[in-house]
Amino acid sequence: MAPWVPVSRPGVRRNLSLAMPMHDLIDRLIRSDIRALAAYHVPDHAGMIKLDAMENPYGWPETLKSEWLEVLRAVALNRYPEPQGPAVQAALREAMEIPSEMAVLLGNGSDELIQMLALAVAGPGRKVLSLEPGFVMYRMIARFAGMEYVGVPLRPEDFSVDLPAVLEAIEREQPALVFLAYPNNPTGNRFDADDVVCMIEAAPGLVIVDEAYAPFTDCSFLALLGDWPNLLVLRTLSKMGLAGLRLGYLVGPQVWLDEIDKVRLPYNINALTQASAAFALRHKSLLDAQAQAIRAERHNLLAALSSLDGVHPYPSEANFILFRAPKGRTDAIFSGLQGEGILIKNLNGSHPMLEDCLRVTVGRAEENAVFLSALTGLVS
Ligand SMILES: *Cc1c(COP(=O)(O)O)cnc(C)c1O
Repeated sequence: MAPWVPVSRPGVRRNLSLAMPMHDLIDRLIRSDIRALAAYHVPDHAGMIKLDAMENPYGWPETLKSEWLEVLRAVALNRYPEPQGPAVQAALREAMEIPSEMAVLLGNGSDELIQMLALAVAGPGRKVLSLEPGFVMYRMIARFAGMEYVGVPLRPEDFSVDLPAVLEAIEREQPALVFLAYPNNPTGNRFDADDVVCMIEAAPGLVIVDEAYAPFTDCSFLALLGDWPNLLVLRTLSKMGLAGLRLGYLVGPQVWLDEIDKVRLPYNINALTQASAAFALRHKSLLDAQAQAIRAERHNLLAALSSLDGVHPYPSEANFILFRAPKGRTDAIFSGLQGEGILIKNLNGSHPMLEDCLRVTVGRAEENAVFLSALTGLVS
């Protein structure tokens, strides 16, 4: 049989824009604020010591992997997943000590929950407020959702909250959403809890305390949920060792989460993630031990960085350390590390307050040692 060849029907007029060069058509159609963006860049890391993305550096023992693969054998890939992930929810409640009167909403990473929150409140004049330098997705997602973003600077000397400035901005901007990363990324410090309380009490809208780094600090607002009507807590399994699964969770009063749930795409948590997360959470003691090891390594890494001439690390309650490199040499140091097969994050140029700043994720002891020895050579 001859292949089908498309033929226009007589009398059907071709739209004039189809005569444009394609890039003109793109310019006309894609929102200008989207065209102005650069896609989220993930650098090539094949064969490198990867200390750029706050991943847990430890794997699982082989026996545990075999048990996990047995669990996956039972997953019915021909069926849609459970829409609300009841087994994962139950495992999370048990493992994370979620207050029983609070509801849980699952996201494909906590990034998706940030997006759901924005979609649920977006509208003319609706604003997102956060502190800077901070987690870039708050600004990006606000923009995707067509919301205005307001970034309030942290204090430049230690990245603490400039409370009068924040309270003034909240009063002036009346944000629908306030995101507070607790501890903060990329600075690693944890904001003063009383400052957070002041912001919750001053805000006219929702305050989302983003506890992505909860495994690496002793402080949390989870147990305080319900004390204020506008507080939600956001968590993720990514930084505690399951970044590949993409599972985040939002905790708060049922009445709030029922509304946010309405913008969730059906079946957002795939069946493999649901089964794997429930399994991993049954072995939370391993994840906890790994978090403890990361905290111990963080202590060693901070001490070693402090002892290097011209290097100024900032204290961290997360699984990474922000440090300032000798002035004007940051890009060369970053490239030098890359040349030696070590990938960290270059923040120089990403924010005025992060000039000469690099961020290193805490790795395994031997990875940190290779990094430190390379860095020592590059700064001397
Ligand atoms: C990494 C990170 C997230 C995103 O985590 P995912 O669950 O992997 O999407 C959210 N908030 C902060 C502050 C982070 O650093």
